[in-house]
Parts: sequence; structure tokens; C-alpha cells
Amino acid sequence: MSAQQTALNDLSVLYKHTLPSYLHTDSLGPWNSYLQQIDRVAPYLGSLSRWIETLKRPKRILIVDVPIKMDDGTTSHFEGYRVQHNTARGPGKGGVRYHEDVTLSEVMALSAWMSIKNAAVNVPYGGAKGGIRVNPRKLSRSELERVTRRYTSEIGIIIGPNTDIPATDVNTDEQVMAWMMDTYSMNIGQITTGVVTGKPVSLGGSLGRREATGRGVFTVGCEAARRIGLNIKSARTAVQGFGNVGGIAAKLFVEAGAKVVAVQDHTGTLYKPSGIDAYALLEHVTEKGGVTGFAGAESIADDDFWGIESDILIPAALESQINEKNASRIRTKIVIEGANGPTTPIADDILRENNVLVIPDVVANAGGVTVSYFEWVQNFSNFFWTEDKINKRLECVMREAFSSVWQVAQENNVSIRTAAYIIACKRILLTCEMRGLYP
Ligand code: NAD
Repeated sequence: MSAQQTALNDLSVLYKHTLPSYLHTDSLGPWNSYLQQIDRVAPYLGSLSRWIETLKRPKRILIVDVPIKMDDGTTSHFEGYRVQHNTARGPGKGGVRYHEDVTLSEVMALSAWMSIKNAAVNVPYGGAKGGIRVNPRKLSRSELERVTRRYTSEIGIIIGPNTDIPATDVNTDEQVMAWMMDTYSMNIGQITTGVVTGKPVSLGGSLGRREATGRGVFTVGCEAARRIGLNIKSARTAVQGFGNVGGIAAKLFVEAGAKVVAVQDHTGTLYKPSGIDAYALLEHVTEKGGVTGFAGAESIADDDFWGIESDILIPAALESQINEKNASRIRTKIVIEGANGPTTPIADDILRENNVLVIPDVVANAGGVTVSYFEWVQNFSNFFWTEDKINKRLECVMREAFSSVWQVAQENNVSIRTAAYIIACKRILLTCEMRGLYP
């Protein structure tokens, strides 16, 4: 399918946004998962529900062509997106993903989840997200730099420190953020560190940002475990995705005394009931690019990962990984969503029926955007905080957010996800109502 066809198909998905909620199917992709989540929260919003249509439409979508000169002298074109879902509460905020399967509807969903997440943890941002349909592993370093710089120039018309602030996501790192910051700054003729977050510390990045999402996953994991009487010291964790989020979260759980019994990434699946050495595995992944070939655990079939018994399951890779096909096989007590959108609405229902507590992405992985917010604030003041201060403030935000959603969930007898959406949607829609419509 050509990139243009993909975009058109995606747009037709957008205009199916009024899809009735009885049409329960997982095959419609992340944007429809998001729409179903919004339908579920509507009855709890009182009079604010009259504004809910706002949440079902992204505010602004930009599709860009990213042509670059390859090292062999030929020209390649990649398709890029930047979607601003909602900016009622502040500038758009959300990462940029480099992946050959990125689609517009996926970026739309990711941008919408950012609106919900930022409101759920009460950072003063709207939601946005970006992506390029590219496999960065197939590019040389200089090609990757050219893709990044051209994409940044193309979306430069809508991003900025007061309008929309990109950050890292799957397959983008501190170096990519440094190139984005430099390109934007060169184009406007002014150093603008606050245009992106997740930068290297030497370029205005924040201490603690790299570990922030994994640290937040760990913090809410401990809060959830405490509430259901699960002892972290004897907990068995299974982790899908061993990158920035999954790798750091696994390390922190091990430091707290837990065991990592299974790990899966795009290269394979490992299993060791007595506990995988997470530090050695992190080194192996840095060296080899994936978990495959690690000698300290048994290699098993990818699909078997979902049947492994654990106490805490952390999906920290991509969307829709827990779905109607595997949800009923999952044997765990708590799912902590490190990834964005890893559980489809049908799977969510199955897990709830099976008494599995799901801590949703919009709370569980909000540590990243929280420290991004700290980074942005530090960039505006050019005054930098210590790592200890950042970690303490992060913990405080995460605990407070968790405690509020837990309480709303108990009061309304709803899932933690619906509770988080109740809090977030009320915050966003109240702002919409107070701001009113222009003109
Ligand atoms: P990353 O690129 O550092 O790591 C991604 C991991 O997922 C890798 O281990 C990769 O091998 C694995 N993976 C990819 N495809 C897979 C597949 N098909 N099956 C199994 N594993 C697969 O990315 P990251 O930053 O850790 O992001 C992971 C998830 O967390 C994404 O959903 C992202 O949107 C979300 N997230 C990231 C941050 C952040 O600060 N980095 C913040 C919030 C949410």
C-alpha cells in the first residue's frame, strides 16, 4: 500500500469517529480504541458531556513529505505526521515515533492519549504526537540526521516552545532531540532549548528524564501493589519491551527485590522462573540491539510470553499487544501499562472479569511527560534542579495522580482507566467550557 493510500485510509478512519460503541471489535486500530474509551467515560461527565465531541476530533493534523538524499546519492521520501489533538489546557505535548508501520490513525490515537495523560496528572499541556514512517535501523547516522532535520523543518510551522513541544518516543533518543532543537533554532535564528524535551543534559535536558517513565511505572506499580496486598520484594514481573521504559522499570523492580521472570522484545522472548539478571540483560541489549542470544535465560516462543504466570505484567512496547486473542490467557495480578495503548477495550473487559488490576497508560507512563514538563520549566528559567529534587517531585506527582484515580475508581465502581478518563476529561472539558468558542 502506498504511503498516500495509507493516509487516505487513515482519514476515512477519522471520519468514522461516530462509530457506535456496540461495534466492539479490536481490528479497527488504536484510534477506535481511544474512541471507545471516550464513549465509556461520557456517562460520568455530567453537563460537561455536551463538549465531548471536541475530544473525538484532533484539533490539527499535518502530513508532511520528508525527502532526503541517501548516502548512495539517491533520494528517498518518507511520510511524517504531527497531530495536535487538543490544546485547551496548554501547548501540545507528545513524542515523535520513528517506525516503518506508523500510521496517521495511530499518531491520532497517541496524540489523544497525551491530552488525557497530561490532564490526568495535571501538567499544563494539551496533547500532541508525531511520527515518521521509517525504519531508523536501515538508515546510516547521517541519513537519520537528515530525516530528523527535514521533518523538523516541515513541522516547524506548528511546533514551538509555546505551541507544541515534541519529545522522544519509540526509536527516537536524546541525539534526535538535539538535532530537532538545533534545526528549529537555526530556522528561527534563535537558540530555543524549550522546543523539545528529552534533550541531552549538556544541551538543556533535565537530569532524571531518561529514567523518568520507567521510574513512574515503578512508583505506580508499588502504589497498586500496596493496595492489593502484594509484596514487591517477592513479586514476579514479566516485561514486554526492554527499551527506555521497560528496561528501566525492570531494573527498578529488581532493585526493590522483585524478580524479572520473562522479557520480550522485537527480537525474541526470554524466560527464567528464578529471575533474569536485568543488569546483564541491559548490557546485552545495548551491545546486540535486542534480547536474543542472551545466555542467562531460556529462549521461548513469542506467543508463550502471554501465558507466563507473574504478579506484575508490564507491556512496554507498542499498542494493542494485549488483545482479544491473548487476554484470557494472561495470569497476573497487575498490568502496568508502560506503553501507550497496549490493551484494547475488549481485552480490558476480559482482564477486569478475571480480576486483573490494570493501571492504565495515561497514569502509569506519565512519569516521562512529567519530567519533560520539569525540563521545559527549567529551560524557560535557565535554572537547573538536582536529580534528587526531580525524582522526589516526580514521585510526588505520580503518587498524587494514582491516589486520585484510585479514589474515583472506588467511588464510581469503575476501572482505574475509566477513573483516570473521568478526571482528565472533566479537566479538559471544563477548560473548553470556560474558554468558550472563538469566534
Ligand atoms: P524504545 O524504542 O526505547 O523501546 C521499545 C521496546 O519495544 C524495544 O525493546 C523493542 O525491542 C520493543 N518492541 C518493539 N516492537 C516490539 C514487538 N512487536 N514485540 C515486542 N517488543 C517490541 O521505546 P520506549 O521509549 O521504551 O517506548 C515504549 C513504549 O512506551 C511506547 O508505547 C511509547 O509510546 C511508550 N512511552 C514512552 C515514553 C518515554 O519517555 N520514552 C513515555 C511514555 C510512554
